[in-house]
Amino acid sequence: MKKPHNHGKCLNCNELFVANYRSRERQRFCSKADCQKARKRASQKAWLAKPENQNYFRDAEHAARIRQWQKAHPDYWKN
Ligand SMILES: [Zn+2]
Repeated sequence: MKKPHNHGKCLNCNELFVANYRSRERQRFCSKADCQKARKRASQKAWLAKPENQNYFRDAEHAARIRQWQKAHPDYWKN
């Protein structure tokens, strides 16, 4: 049986800390203000690292191009 992860080492200051057991996600940063800032930066980075989010801004452009293409080729969609 696996032990629950109720403590961790902060990725920012490298200090051991006890994580909030109610927290759904595994905490990787302690509660210091600096480390919470680092956590925010890391989560933004992680969000951008996901392939579906990397396309987030490109997709808006892409969708506009598809709409233009659909206008130019209305018959294609009739079947
Ligand atoms: Zn920390």
